[in-house]
Amino acid sequence: MKSYQLQDYRQPLVPVETPTPEPKGSELLLKVVASGICHTDLHLIDGGYDLGQGRRLSFKDRGFQLPRTPGHEIVGRVVAAGPEAGAIAREKNYLVFPWIGCGTCVACAAGDEHLCPQPRYLGLQRDGGFSDHVMVPHPRYLLDIGNIDPKAAAPYACSGLTTYSALKKAGDAIKRSEILIIGAGGLGLMGVQLVRLMGGKGAVVVDIDAKKRQAAVEAGALAALDGSAADLRAQIQSAMTAGVHVVVDLVGSATTAQLAIDVLAKGGKYILVGLFGGSIDIPLPTIPLRVLTITGSFVGNLAELNELLDLARSRGLPSFPTTPCSLHDVNENLRRLHDGKVIGRAVMVAE
Ligand code: NAD
Ligand code: ZN
Repeated sequence: MKSYQLQDYRQPLVPVETPTPEPKGSELLLKVVASGICHTDLHLIDGGYDLGQGRRLSFKDRGFQLPRTPGHEIVGRVVAAGPEAGAIAREKNYLVFPWIGCGTCVACAAGDEHLCPQPRYLGLQRDGGFSDHVMVPHPRYLLDIGNIDPKAAAPYACSGLTTYSALKKAGDAIKRSEILIIGAGGLGLMGVQLVRLMGGKGAVVVDIDAKKRQAAVEAGALAALDGSAADLRAQIQSAMTAGVHVVVDLVGSATTAQLAIDVLAKGGKYILVGLFGGSIDIPLPTIPLRVLTITGSFVGNLAELNELLDLARSRGLPSFPTTPCSLHDVNENLRRLHDGKVIGRAVMVAE
């Protein structure tokens, strides 16, 4: 099989040919049909996260092994199955749930494999979808997408699931007032549409890039504000006259975190998702005095991915902009994402 591997941090992925593996036990070998490129792939290639003040959380120190094939937004077809995998239809396209855990710890037993302390995520700790084949450990991680276009469905495994799970953390607040979404990239454009699908009033979006703001308006944002405007806080207050009760930050930089804390109303919730990095200084009394909730949100669990697919089927699919490309253009598309040139998602489709 042909895969694009990360062999050294901060270097282009390297094409390699290896013998196609045979599934054992409950494993299934899938031919990759569509594979999305996420900003987290850029953090992986960069080798770590910026913790601010010169500190760094490196993948190497966290025990990551290279080489690794990235790619966690995968749709594929089963081409071989291990003896314990059971009967599984070969002609169907499956969305792969990549946020796999050890299967035995407290988090996994509760159905929260994405919170497992010993993760085996596809495309991070295990080889993923930047390849023509991918191995999945068990059929329970395969979700039948029916007749949904594979390149539209692949981003559901991360962009869709992450924003869905983040928005769920806002609870009923999304029905009572507009919410503020920071970042209109792959996650943000999905989020804008999901707010509506989930019965919310809608989203005001902030992005520093005019093309992304345009895409956000086309996706149904109530307003799209320039993140670099000097009077941004005033613009937010006038676009959200009922107050800012929920901020979903899909950038997660020092600038955006400070913005969120500054604009939130009393009792407001800051849901932090993006991993651009940095740090801010929060005076502690402001948290109880303003009754703020700060919560992190990381992808979502298998049940939530099933809920998201059900929602998409019953209430209509978010029409999410995707740019098809091919596996051998992966490095060029990673560069385009890095340079802010991708609207929505670049998704590699099998030739
Ligand atoms: P993307 O590159 O597609 O989009 C990022 C967007 O943020 C762009 O539109 C960019 O113009 C905008 N932006 C950058 N700086 C900004 C600023 N200061 N103010 C306003 N907008 C700004 O990225 P993506 O795939 O949507 O991912 C976004 C972030 O979320 C990445 O850090 C990614 O690693 C992270 N992520 C986290 C999770 C999770 O589970 N927590 C899951 C997936 C992705
Ligand atoms: Zn991702």
